[in-house]
Amino acid sequence: MRFVERLLLENQAWAGEIKHRDPHMFDRLSAGQSPEVLWIGCSDSRVPAEQICNTSPGEMFIHRNVANRVCPNEAGFMSVLEYAVAVLKVRHIIVCGHHRCGGVQAAMTDENTGFSHLDNHLDGIRDIRRRHANELAKMNNDADRLDQMVALNVIDQVRTLSELPLIKAQWSCHQRPTIHGMVYALETGRLREIERWDGEHCEAVQACAV
Ligand SMILES: [Zn+2]
Repeated sequence: MRFVERLLLENQAWAGEIKHRDPHMFDRLSAGQSPEVLWIGCSDSRVPAEQICNTSPGEMFIHRNVANRVCPNEAGFMSVLEYAVAVLKVRHIIVCGHHRCGGVQAAMTDENTGFSHLDNHLDGIRDIRRRHANELAKMNNDADRLDQMVALNVIDQVRTLSELPLIKAQWSCHQRPTIHGMVYALETGRLREIERWDGEHCEAVQACAV
């Protein structure tokens, strides 16, 4: 059976199962959404946000791109952020990186990937790597260095988000989304929070060393 045919069949089975378990769920979802969370994660197929958090449809508003970047100059990214914060009024924004991230791996050197959009997208991670060169050089091996860069990238995205005028404006009025930086360990399936911004300052939640 072709893969896409399998997907369509699986969808029918899923919809039937949901209808059986929760007969009104699709009616509720058709009426609108009020997710609590905006999730900004990596596009990597191994990190499906809803599955690893065991959430149901309607609970998370999701944006994914290579290496979970906050992109203030991209209309696609900013429209998701605007809608989530100003219209849906999410209470939490999660930036989630993950171990063995191919996007971060590609930014571990200054060598171009040969793909212009990808290189532009990854340049910000290369800047983070240069800023933390001494710290990274002291690490024992490339795998640890990569996982540490994943954490540093997440922390940088949390801080970039916290400084956006859109987020500052929300904090000056009634709606105050907390920003959380998290890292997902592919090897254990565990998610942990490493950074949190509560409107005034960023604080480390756990040591980011892995
Ligand atoms: Zn990734």
